[in-house]
Amino acid sequence: MQPYIIKRDQHAVSRTQMSQEVLKVLYRLHRTGHLAYLCGGGVRDLLLGRDIDDYDVATDAEPKRLKEVFGNCRLVGRRFRIAHIMFKGGQTIEVSTFRKQGEEDSSEEDDSNSLLIRRDNTFGSPADDAFRRDFTINALYYNVADFSIIDYVGGRADLQSRLIRSIGDPDIRFQEDPIRILRGIRLAATLGFKVEETTWEAMKRQRHHILECAVSRIREEIMKILRRESSHDGFHLLVRAGILEVVFPKLEEFRLAHAESETRADHPIFQHLAVLEDLRVKGVELSDPVLLATLTASPVKELFETLPPDHDVGKSLHEYLEANFKPLAFPRIVRSKVHLLHLALRHMLAEQRRKRRRSLRRSPIFADALKLLEIHCLATDQHWSALRRWQSPPVQRQKRRTRTRVSRSKRIP
Ligand code: ATP
Ligand code: MG
Repeated sequence: MQPYIIKRDQHAVSRTQMSQEVLKVLYRLHRTGHLAYLCGGGVRDLLLGRDIDDYDVATDAEPKRLKEVFGNCRLVGRRFRIAHIMFKGGQTIEVSTFRKQGEEDSSEEDDSNSLLIRRDNTFGSPADDAFRRDFTINALYYNVADFSIIDYVGGRADLQSRLIRSIGDPDIRFQEDPIRILRGIRLAATLGFKVEETTWEAMKRQRHHILECAVSRIREEIMKILRRESSHDGFHLLVRAGILEVVFPKLEEFRLAHAESETRADHPIFQHLAVLEDLRVKGVELSDPVLLATLTASPVKELFETLPPDHDVGKSLHEYLEANFKPLAFPRIVRSKVHLLHLALRHMLAEQRRKRRRSLRRSPIFADALKLLEIHCLATDQHWSALRRWQSPPVQRQKRRTRTRVSRSKRIP
């Protein structure tokens, strides 16, 4: 298959946008007689003028050969061997050999109708490698030999039309690897692109297959959506595609219960997510427990409000959070921090005796709890006095200490 070649003078990608390390890898491969293409999200983001997080390189050199070409090379991966080329400053460039679309594993007896790919380890041509990728805008190659861009799948046109389009039949591609549905949603939210109609309809149809993926992959994709500056749009797309129901059924239950009376903008879940987005745009770093506590802040608040007075709050909270976060196997430490953050928020919103206030201030989760309180205030435009109280240093305690110290020093001579 002949690709469309975009020559150097017809595109804006320049080597000055790339790191020295990736250029070294590309040139070394080229000098040793191999094809050396920058690929995946790197080319996409360079064409869009965005910063690049990670570089992926594709080549015809097989893993064993990569070990010979690069001294600083480690082979990783069980299903498919990928080379990590490591540099002194800590940067790692991922180099993979061109490969073919994987095969479904018919030896699995339990689900013989499944298209799920379990083997993904056959070397292929550059064209094979392009067609096994998920979306057209992720399948462009930058060829260091002549600085051209190679396009087998119409990725350049989709980039210009700002469209997320599956390569091949989306129903089949999503069944082969349902994580692609979440990747597509994340990509659409991050880039502010539209999901092309056929791809979008297939996402909705195939969404229940997502749970066939390893939970760690699902969790990581969800967290990537939540960590990005576009978390609000990302979750809105998850709702529209019916995916929230699949990955966080409890949260979707709450959303639906409040969906009729409230528009998206003033829905409590989205009010909280909008604040996350604003903070991320301002460059504020937020820990995963804070993000997850923010996501569940409104249903948990409702839970607290509806509990009878003598009820075990900790137990009910635990049950609610486990129902949300255990199916995706969020680590126990993260789950217990989310639990503590919700209790801390409840405590901070209530008028508390000074002694208990002090113990929370000394707790290791205090900084995160304060952040959660701030997010909650911004989202609801309430409780500002509680925020001021908790943000201000504990003045009275310091005064008392000073006095004690003075009286002791008087006694010394
Ligand atoms: P980012 O790094 O910003 O998350 P990316 O597109 O670079 O985005 P990676 O996970 O680094 O994502 O993957 C690199 C490339 O590998 C992708 O651009 C895509 O071409 C291909 N790819 C990744 N995951 C899949 C998948 N599940 N199915 C098909 N192709 C995939
Ligand atoms: Mg990448």
